[in-house]
Amino acid sequence: MADEFPLPKRAMAIFAHPDDVDFGCSGTLALWADRGVHITYCLLTSGNKGTHDPKMTPLRLSRIREKEQQAAGRVVGAKEFTFLRHDDGELEVSMKLRGEVCKAIRIHKPDVVFAQDPWREYQMHPDHRVAGWSAMDGIIAARDHLFFKEQLRGKLTHHRVRHVYLFGTAEPNVWFDITSTLDRKIDAIGSHKSQVGDFKGLSQRMRAFAGSTGRGWGLEAAEGFRYLELA
Ligand SMILES: [Zn+2]
Repeated sequence: MADEFPLPKRAMAIFAHPDDVDFGCSGTLALWADRGVHITYCLLTSGNKGTHDPKMTPLRLSRIREKEQQAAGRVVGAKEFTFLRHDDGELEVSMKLRGEVCKAIRIHKPDVVFAQDPWREYQMHPDHRVAGWSAMDGIIAARDHLFFKEQLRGKLTHHRVRHVYLFGTAEPNVWFDITSTLDRKIDAIGSHKSQVGDFKGLSQRMRAFAGSTGRGWGLEAAEGFRYLELA
């Protein structure tokens, strides 16, 4: 349980697709937003291939899904959204993507970053693996002024992230009590209307998952993270 962790002023969630943040850590983010933490989302793709509708185009879908993510973010209390708009399913570890993530971190200056766990074994989705690596590598790059130094010619300054919480992890070492925000987490997930078929069944599964995550701590509902403290 993480009651003893001091709340940051600013947090950023970096993730592959619209809805990843809502499944992964929106209960904790809602808790923090209520206590005054400024929250930014940085999406690497806008999920422009996530459809079975043969008439849907990637551009139209990305617009729908960005709106859905903004609606979900409003439920949580997120204040700003950065869309990097890479193609869904095609994320690759690259200096270009690392530079874009680095720049988002330097602009928004989060004390804490939430990201997908790139060390998770048997993570099948390539975008989830790459999003995790890009977040980690972007954090390191943002810290030192000689990395992507062309970004620093104007007013932008380098920035050190102090804390990382990895979600979708198989090895959590920190848990937050989301009993008071579980309903909002489920509402946020439900905001992704283009993706959610059986919302009732999904919300039951999410309640059961949050319950099983919290059970070891005597909590009704929890989210677990792998916490990394950076020097
Ligand atoms: Zn995803």
